[in-house]
Amino acid sequence: MKNEKAIVVFSGGQDSTTCLFWAKKNFKEVEAVTFDYGQRHIAELECARRIAADLAIQHHVLDMSLLNQLAPNALTRKDIKVEEKEGELPSTFVPGRNLLFLSFAGVLASQVAAKHIITGVCETDFSGYPDCRDQFVKSLNVTLNLSMDSQFVIHTPLMWLNKAETWKLADELGALEYVRKQTLTCYEGVIADGCGECPACRLRKRGLEDYLAERQGV
Ligand SMILES: [Zn+2]
Repeated sequence: MKNEKAIVVFSGGQDSTTCLFWAKKNFKEVEAVTFDYGQRHIAELECARRIAADLAIQHHVLDMSLLNQLAPNALTRKDIKVEEKEGELPSTFVPGRNLLFLSFAGVLASQVAAKHIITGVCETDFSGYPDCRDQFVKSLNVTLNLSMDSQFVIHTPLMWLNKAETWKLADELGALEYVRKQTLTCYEGVIADGCGECPACRLRKRGLEDYLAERQGV
């Protein structure tokens, strides 16, 4: 893989930034793609742009505003609350989001002659998103290859990691402090450690505390 080119689906959050560091370690050439779908916080796009610049990675920002037109949700609309109810998909779920993102990433990969596509989706902290499942990603990989007569390989380095293990991976890549201070995961648009209250912040914080406690214990 060392001599090949990869494209990372990149949001500027903890997971995809960790994937960016992972890709830089494993591939000769790395580009990133961010989808602009009318995120509530423009900070998210700015954050992604800044990180790509910091890491000297060519960054593509694609307009996906049609996603919000199709499926307004809590990630794009201020009047929809971020909620997670037992046994229901969270209000942040956008049907088909990863299907669309990965498909467009595939088209872009073919344009820039990248064989590898990297996404930070994860089944472990599975919040009920069906298109974050390993089975879905494998199925789409086959579909992309058939659709473009290509040999893409979709990589999901975080698929079986919990949040603590994702922090561990960032640490192993020498990027723990960077990921902690420069990424945005918070639903309220607060960078780094975030608002501390929203579901994304709580998950991120718990994972970090678990990992730091584990590291201390070693
Ligand atoms: Zn938050």
